[in-house]
Amino acid sequence: MIGTIEEVIRDMETGVLDFTKNGECSGCGSCCSNYLPMSEKEIREIRKYMKKHGVTEKKHLMPTLYPMFDLTCPFLDDSKEKNKCTIYPARPQICRVFVCNQPPSQVNENRELFWRTRMPVNMRKIFFGG
Ligand code: SF4
Ligand code: SF4
Repeated sequence: MIGTIEEVIRDMETGVLDFTKNGECSGCGSCCSNYLPMSEKEIREIRKYMKKHGVTEKKHLMPTLYPMFDLTCPFLDDSKEKNKCTIYPARPQICRVFVCNQPPSQVNENRELFWRTRMPVNMRKIFFGG
């Protein structure tokens, strides 16, 4: 998506593309990655939520042919018009604070904070053993 010159410069500065609509999260799911910084507590809470609600693994991009290239979060249900997080009430803190139109200073602050206080998690592996 091409925005104003200011938006393009901001995207280049942060390495984050802006997919918002009218300044609000559009729910496009483009930021829903298979690799997220998470704490042990967040992992426990997600496991509890999964068990209670029977959450299953979501696959993307021709899963039988190219499972290794599926870099999208296994909790993202993109089968409907609007993408949906299937663990929304239990989603980790990074998903709660991140919006792709944040100013570079906020993006960098979040990046520094989350990668310093949490560990990088392969979501598919840790929650589904894949
Ligand atoms: S924050 Fe994520 S889901 Fe929302 S518009 Fe940006 S990329 Fe899409
Ligand atoms: S937990 Fe939900 S909001 Fe966070 S990356 Fe996965 S699908 Fe997106």
